[in-house]
Amino acid sequence: MNDKKQPLASRTTCFFALIGSLCLSSAAAAVAAAGSVIHAGQLLSVPGEPPARTQTLVIEKGRIRAIEAGYRTPAQLGLAQDTAVIDLREAFVMPGFIDLHVHISTQYGPGSKYLRVTDSDADTALSAAMYARNTLLGGFTTVRDLGSSGNAVFALRDAIKAGKVPGPKILVAGDPISATGGHGDIHGYRREVLYALPKTGICDGPDSCRAAVRRQVKRGADVIKVTVTGGVLSETAAGTGQQLTDAELSAIVETAHSLGRKVTAHAHSAGGIEAALRAGFDSIEHAMWADKNIMRLFKKSGAWMIPTIYPITAVGDTPEKIRQGPFRGMPPPIMAKLLRLGKQPKVMGRLAHEMGVNIALGTDAGLYPHGDNANEFIEYVNIGMSAMEALMAGTVNAAAAAGIDAEVGSLQPGKAADIVAMPASPLEDIRAVLEVTFVMRDGEIFKQER
Ligand SMILES: [Zn+2]
Repeated sequence: MNDKKQPLASRTTCFFALIGSLCLSSAAAAVAAAGSVIHAGQLLSVPGEPPARTQTLVIEKGRIRAIEAGYRTPAQLGLAQDTAVIDLREAFVMPGFIDLHVHISTQYGPGSKYLRVTDSDADTALSAAMYARNTLLGGFTTVRDLGSSGNAVFALRDAIKAGKVPGPKILVAGDPISATGGHGDIHGYRREVLYALPKTGICDGPDSCRAAVRRQVKRGADVIKVTVTGGVLSETAAGTGQQLTDAELSAIVETAHSLGRKVTAHAHSAGGIEAALRAGFDSIEHAMWADKNIMRLFKKSGAWMIPTIYPITAVGDTPEKIRQGPFRGMPPPIMAKLLRLGKQPKVMGRLAHEMGVNIALGTDAGLYPHGDNANEFIEYVNIGMSAMEALMAGTVNAAAAAGIDAEVGSLQPGKAADIVAMPASPLEDIRAVLEVTFVMRDGEIFKQER
């Protein structure tokens, strides 16, 4: 009668049958439900503080119950003798990574422009489930989706939470708030198509923009994303300057905050970033043309910068590579903006770091294949951060920027058991983050390579 009495070992769920060695099925579910003990050779529980050697993590009901020095057995910890002991004594163990800027339901590629008119929400949801799984297996246990069309991303978030499909926890923005014809609107199709596919975030005037924010929250948004300026990949020659007025921006920020949502700005031009900081945005995405003056404003306001450097590296940042790479054949307005961007993301990121701006990790995943997100850590070391600073950007800083630091970003008693491990220390060579061999989210193991 009571399915709680059903032995967990009889469960047959197996998310990873297609990837062979990662099929953990009933054992993983049992570990999540009954708790487990991890023996960690090196443990970086709070990025920013030094790692400790030879540690035991006690996991219960998806959360960290305790961290103890030495390798402690279940018996020594007063746990049932059959509590699972996960051997990571040869590994470097740390909090799951956090990416504050992904587009989980799309992946850029030939013909991706047409998915909007060919794929149903159901098609999108199934693609998104695959991208979510890839992201999780890359070590990212929390992501923030800053723009996915349709409703699939909400269903995906909820299905992951319910344990129906594997993936990271997702904070969802829904449709970006954008001016009519702005970066977050639809471009590049014949007029009938533009008007047949309305976006729910389009607004003009402060009242209209308040309504657009409320609409996203009504749809289930956890965070509000606003395209304050033009963007590089919108198919319009409108540039990358400010597109929403100061009055509209203030109305958006006020409404988002009154509804308990963080509000983040897509902004490229210095003037647009300045307007967003003036309006009180919690964070700025990209910030590509931020100069010294803007960096000072960042520091004064305490806003977070989310620089998204990896996509241009993945493409290649020289004019030849931009012209010949994956964006080959892009319409002239987009190509002109890409060529102007060039090495600017790295130049800007280096300046931001030198001037002490708060930086949190975001990658614009979907512009490059989902699952490769950890390359952003390497970019941060390339622009002058220490390995520890880079790891902080994608853990404690990202959690603080998103307002979820009571739950994730570090491994401390009471917080979620979102844990990754890799064979080598990323503090010695940051490229170790590309070799994640163990992923646990909410106490459940999703990857364990031996
Ligand atoms: Zn984006």
